[in-house]
Amino acid sequence: MKEVVKGFRKIVYLTFPPDVSGRPVVCNLGKLFELSFNILKADISPRHEGTMTLEISGLEPDFHKGVSYLKENGVRIIPVAHKIFRDEESCIHCGLCTSMCPTSALTVDKGTRMVTFDVDKCSACGMCTRVCPVRAMTLDLDENNRQ
Ligand code: SF4
Ligand code: SF4
Repeated sequence: MKEVVKGFRKIVYLTFPPDVSGRPVVCNLGKLFELSFNILKADISPRHEGTMTLEISGLEPDFHKGVSYLKENGVRIIPVAHKIFRDEESCIHCGLCTSMCPTSALTVDKGTRMVTFDVDKCSACGMCTRVCPVRAMTLDLDENNRQ
């Protein structure tokens, strides 16, 4: 049986077609799938294409059900994992982020004692951006830079 991961959290970038922009599909993530969501950035108006950067948290299976629901309703979903950046000059290699990182994208190199960041392992949960004392970890929410 697949292990249920509690406290699953992911940041996604959503694009709403005009006929979906005015519908409460994001609110339904809470009602139908017991997911919590935090709108980080939104540009939505009824009857126009809209965009939203959304932090979704809950149980991982519910997250996937919620994502399927959004897709069935015509919403385009792009993970923003590659939108997490580390300012190499600001990082003081305190290691605080490594204890919070759920995917081991941030780890301490046993030899050098320096903290390394593997962006390909990052799930864009955003935890490191909250705990970093010097704000070296940042999340780029500018859709103009999106890949
Ligand atoms: S918490 Fe910030 S300063 Fe500390 S190792 Fe992580 S990125 Fe560097
Ligand atoms: S690097 Fe930061 S955003 Fe990426 S998974 Fe680790 S804690 Fe989350």
